[in-house]
Amino acid sequence: MPAYANRLENHVALVTGSSSGIGLAIAEAMAGEGASVVVNYRSDEQAANALVERIKGNGGRSVAVKADVSEEEDVIRLFDETIAAFGRVDVVVSNAGIQKDAAIAEMTLQDWNTVIGVNLTGQFLCAREAVRRFRAQGREGAPARSKGTIIAMSSVHELIPWAGHINYASSKGGVRMFVQSLAQEVAAEGIRVNAIAPGAIKTPINKEAWETEDALEALLKLIPYGRIGEPQDVARAAVWLASDEADYVTGTTLFVDGGMSLYPEFRDNG
Ligand code: NAD
Repeated sequence: MPAYANRLENHVALVTGSSSGIGLAIAEAMAGEGASVVVNYRSDEQAANALVERIKGNGGRSVAVKADVSEEEDVIRLFDETIAAFGRVDVVVSNAGIQKDAAIAEMTLQDWNTVIGVNLTGQFLCAREAVRRFRAQGREGAPARSKGTIIAMSSVHELIPWAGHINYASSKGGVRMFVQSLAQEVAAEGIRVNAIAPGAIKTPINKEAWETEDALEALLKLIPYGRIGEPQDVARAAVWLASDEADYVTGTTLFVDGGMSLYPEFRDNG
């Protein structure tokens, strides 16, 4: 990891779905930049606690909180516990997300509802609670120029259609418009809202796309930059977006994708 600059000193950051993958890397990077970090998890208590202990071992402050982001009561309690632990909340990274893939004719209503429930309704519940808490604590004593900042974890599939993954692509397409509309709604009061759109990042969610040599070779054809992304690639972008360095950035999606969204099929003249 690069040398830290304490860019999130005195901030309280809540990262959903941070017991694994991209969320874990973001929680660790934000703690490394001085933030007190709430590690939210849905089921893997052991991994969440291990991360909290690692952060504390490095001199940071962290607690783990179990909550399902698609459940209203859980999300309200998650924010209550964040404020009980650290007194405020400044950065909310709505990272939790899932895939339940199927072709349209085989996709069950449950596959559809579960993915929309976590990936899109989860964004709504977390952002609504974040805005309420940012408003309640006001700008007084805020560690940043903004009153608070929300980062929604989107995907290149907010832009790139994805056959066989209609629930997932629809949820991420929804995240794009959610972020832009909310950013427009709350900008005047000093709240920033942005999204990050990762390309192919090496995490448990897409294991089958990188775990064999053949799969990885096929995947790399889609990535002009020629390598799969690491969770830390996304974490560094999230730290920057959360910090005052990005104070004038709101309502945008930052693609962290090695060029995956650049229509790589057109490299050789289409
Ligand atoms: P991951 O499976 O390691 O992480 C997802 C996390 O969300 C897990 O820790 C999981 O337990 C948690 N989660 C799932 N449902 C939850 C719920 N209801 N409540 C709380 N937590 C819940 O995979 P990842 O790649 O780290 O995914 C993180 C985010 O990045 C997701 O939103 C995903 O869509 C997005 N993303 C990932 C990639 C990639 O290539 N890995 C690409 C684009 C977008």
